[in-house]
Amino acid sequence: MFDALAERLEDAWKKLRGQDKISQANIQDALKEVRRALLSADVNLQVVKKFVADVETTAMGADVIAGVRPDQQFIKIVYDELVQVMGESNVPLAKADTSPTIVLMAGLQGTGKTTATAKLALHLGKENRSCLMVATDVYRPAAIDQLVTLGEQINIPVFEMGTDTNPVEIACQGVAHAKETGVDTVIIDTAGRLQIDAEMMAELAQIKDNVKPDEVLLVVDAMTGQEAATLTHTFNQQIGITGAILTKLDGDTRGGAALSVRQVSGQPIKFVGVGEKVEALQPFYPDRMASRILG
Ligand code: GDP
Repeated sequence: MFDALAERLEDAWKKLRGQDKISQANIQDALKEVRRALLSADVNLQVVKKFVADVETTAMGADVIAGVRPDQQFIKIVYDELVQVMGESNVPLAKADTSPTIVLMAGLQGTGKTTATAKLALHLGKENRSCLMVATDVYRPAAIDQLVTLGEQINIPVFEMGTDTNPVEIACQGVAHAKETGVDTVIIDTAGRLQIDAEMMAELAQIKDNVKPDEVLLVVDAMTGQEAATLTHTFNQQIGITGAILTKLDGDTRGGAALSVRQVSGQPIKFVGVGEKVEALQPFYPDRMASRILG
């Protein structure tokens, strides 16, 4: 594990052999390598800076354990810190005391929001939680059709009112319908734009105020790397998120966005999308992601 980083640390740690403490003088090269590893995993620069500073604080003055190579010990410190920042363990989806649990999906267009809505419904179905999906993207008829098609494919009902009704109204009626039919969880798919815009945020905020969701999940495309931090910051500040779904982790990415999302918002990533198929959703595990980010 972490062979690449270990190899790169080799030179940095030659200096440390024979010493009994990790110190300011001998740690700088190693910290530089960590910084490089995180940046090449596409972690946001500000997030990297804070992370490296935290690792430095933890590592400084740590006793070198007899029989353990100092570079291995240092990598363990980095790994533990990564796991800790990403939340230690998996945080499951909330469950409301009184059904239905309401989940609001948020995010930019193309990130995989609609797909993630269906993936989540299918996943919850496997836990015997019945779902209703609500289509509120009235700006793109194709988005409603896409959700309806996915619903048919996985045999989960979709509530839609076409494109002539206000999205806030659709969301409210969808929740009312979920209550009437006694489903466990209602997942509201919302409109995304190519870029963050004020109108989209205002609409999301309005839906949130009206349906009072138990979860607001930001769908983040892992391939966007550094951008994930800005996106998360904006959505969290303006809407308030309770968690995230990191999609497209099957792509060629080391998943640095995961670290950014958690550090910027303080909210956990709950699931990861690992493919286009509707079954391709997995719970998020910080330890696995830490290994992936370190390479
Ligand atoms: P939305 O605009 O945010 O609702 O995005 P969609 O759900 O329509 O997804 C956009 C594209 O990304 C589609 O082609 C999906 O098949 C694809 N997609 C979604 N999630 C994943 C994923 O986890 N991995 C991969 N490889 N593709 C995904």
